[in-house]
Amino acid sequence: MNLFDVYSLYDIEPVSGKGNYVYTADGTEYLDLYGGHAVISIGHAHPRYVDAVAKQVAKLGFYSNSVQNSLQSTLAEKLGDITGYGDYQLFLCNSGAEANENAIKLASFTTGRKKLLAFSKAFHGRTSGAVAATDNPAIVSPFNATPNVEFVALGDIAAVESRLATGEFCAVLIEGIQGVSGIHEPGDEFLQELRELTIKTGTLLILDEIQSGTGRTGKYFAHQHSGIKPDIITMAKGIANGFPVGAVLIAPHIPAKKGMLGTTFGGNHLACAAAIAVADVMKEERLIDNAAAIGQYLISQLKEIDGLKEVRGRGLMIGVEIEGDAPALRKKLLFDRHIFTGGAGQHTVRILPALCLSKEQADRFLTEFKSIL
Ligand SMILES: *Cc1c(COP(=O)(O)O)cnc(C)c1O
Repeated sequence: MNLFDVYSLYDIEPVSGKGNYVYTADGTEYLDLYGGHAVISIGHAHPRYVDAVAKQVAKLGFYSNSVQNSLQSTLAEKLGDITGYGDYQLFLCNSGAEANENAIKLASFTTGRKKLLAFSKAFHGRTSGAVAATDNPAIVSPFNATPNVEFVALGDIAAVESRLATGEFCAVLIEGIQGVSGIHEPGDEFLQELRELTIKTGTLLILDEIQSGTGRTGKYFAHQHSGIKPDIITMAKGIANGFPVGAVLIAPHIPAKKGMLGTTFGGNHLACAAAIAVADVMKEERLIDNAAAIGQYLISQLKEIDGLKEVRGRGLMIGVEIEGDAPALRKKLLFDRHIFTGGAGQHTVRILPALCLSKEQADRFLTEFKSIL
């Protein structure tokens, strides 16, 4: 059987990892500033994580949501503590797209409205509702495109105001920082105004923190830099360091109804054990503080490099826009200098490492990056 050929792959296969490094079968070491697409949050093969997952799978890897699973409440407590959203409710699923799907459904159930407002260049995932709110014709099929979703430009508060005034929108869906389109921040003031407008019009505010969450920007969620509190927050990527977990945090004023949401795999024992280990390690090793400090250092050093078009982002969620060919530069970084980075379009390099990146590792990247430029 052939693989369905939807990816353009690099000819390289990491087979093991440790912290911010991955290794190919011949033992070559690669510095990982991509984190497998912002997924590796506490580092590859962290011993606490390996131990927790191995112990859990040997004990009970899975049982259905028709019975009690106290690992879910343990995870809820840990997430409440580390996020500052202890009064919110937790719904667990398996991926980012699924988290957004459930958030949209919940907003529509709760308000009885059917339209959703999203933003230009947004990415929210590839399932029906999530992809309908994604502004990229290359991945939205005719089946998915729906008049129930409208887009306005990120930052255009007047456009938001006039759309919400119709009273037709169940929610506004926005990324804490736009990731896939190349690291674009909504801005604290815009988020604050958005919060006011959504409250005024009875519209729910959904923050997609799937990429910008789990401490990456130096606070647990990117929107926390602005001081606002959304009604619903979605998470995935870094929450379980590579084990597929999605999560929806739901404000206390939104009521749960039996049967409204559900999932077979979501919140299973193994998934919870993985996510609990991540929350514990993140807290004990103060990884969010490290992301803030090393991120600030990297951004300030990058801003001093001549000839870059723009350096955007916060903490360890950084977009570097160059004049030249970013995919070619990334290829050189990978194959000549053994450094993984992420991309976004033709001119942007994305830096999304695990939050345990050291200053030495950041310096090595800066040196190699400058020398290739
Ligand atoms: C990755 C991502 C998603 C989709 O997550 P999947 O786990 O791939 O379904 C949604 N929103 C944002 C902002 C993302 O970065």
